[in-house]
Amino acid sequence: MGTTSRRDFLKRAGLISAAALVAPTGLPAFDKAGNIAGGNAGTPSRPVGSNASKGRLTLEWEDFTGILKHTFTISGSSRSSTPIVLTRITWNGITGYGEASMPPYLGETSASVNEFLKRVRADVLPKFDDPFRIQEIMESVDSLATNNTAAKASVDIALHDLTGRIMGQPWWKIWGFSPENTPCTSFTIGYDADDDVVREKTREASWAKVLKVKLGMGNDKDRRMINLIRETAPDVPVYVDANQGWKDRSETLEMIEWLAGKGVVMVEQPLSKYDLDGHAWLTERSPLPIIADESCQRLTDIPRLKGAFHGINIKLMKCTGMREAREMITLAKALGMRLMIGCMTETSVAISAASQLSPEMEWADLDGNVLLANDCFSGMKLTDGKITLSDAAGIGVNPV
Ligand SMILES: [Mg+2]
Repeated sequence: MGTTSRRDFLKRAGLISAAALVAPTGLPAFDKAGNIAGGNAGTPSRPVGSNASKGRLTLEWEDFTGILKHTFTISGSSRSSTPIVLTRITWNGITGYGEASMPPYLGETSASVNEFLKRVRADVLPKFDDPFRIQEIMESVDSLATNNTAAKASVDIALHDLTGRIMGQPWWKIWGFSPENTPCTSFTIGYDADDDVVREKTREASWAKVLKVKLGMGNDKDRRMINLIRETAPDVPVYVDANQGWKDRSETLEMIEWLAGKGVVMVEQPLSKYDLDGHAWLTERSPLPIIADESCQRLTDIPRLKGAFHGINIKLMKCTGMREAREMITLAKALGMRLMIGCMTETSVAISAASQLSPEMEWADLDGNVLLANDCFSGMKLTDGKITLSDAAGIGVNPV
């Protein structure tokens, strides 16, 4: 969809926000940040589930192409743009925003998300008139198809944003998390064959308190990347993501031992996502924590990863959104596993949604919006590289 259509989409949302300000239906009025106007953000103004809350849940969406500032190369693929679908769910004049971001290796496309959302609109939403029934709505959405996790997340995020706005509270607060516990986000440096490009990317990332480096290209190339980054940034902690690129477990352990000596603090998905034995062997011996990314998609994956990895990387686009991500935190903590939150290249909508969970995380890689040249929302801000949560209701975003 073109720029004009996108402006129309955002403009319509703006009109609805303006309508919500005058609260024609007796609902609480909201300012632009989605907070209840008049400073009574902490006071629920009406009982949830009363007749006054009845209304249609209207789902709309549009395609959006995220343009990357730099061509992004990881083990196995390379790209300069990323397909995104922006969603919004409106109920009684209040709008919540959501997003599906579809990196090509996960199997979803704009077409598949469009088809899936048509089914949500036709088969699921007409059965509900209360957006607070997120559990039941999302179970129904989940049952439509086996995969389509990004499409499902785009519905889940919009519902959370909508209900948070109705309550006048951000989700980190609704969940009871402590905002000062947010980690710093890492900033990702993709592989590049040109030494000067790697140096330039590292210099551009000087604001970040942590770097994440994509490896798995082979022993010599991987060591070259780390050595180049260390020329420009000698002291900053580094996360390494091999994206399943390493094959032999003994060689991988040697590489991890070398990386530990280079100030690397954590390694994501060194081996194939299917090789749990190999990962368990590494986890037993590695001087650095080994974190599951591709091996860990959803809640039901976690029990079998206990012992094979030190921890898991939760991403909203893999796990169908904020509802299941919250459940994954509880289960992983109960199993004594360590936690990371990650992202795809996505706008401030999905990044801000993920940041609501970040106080529970040891590590965060929420730089997807920073990698985009055309982010069309404002939301979560970084302060000196640290994730900073605001009091803005819902997921705390606005179209720009
Ligand atoms: Mg990863």
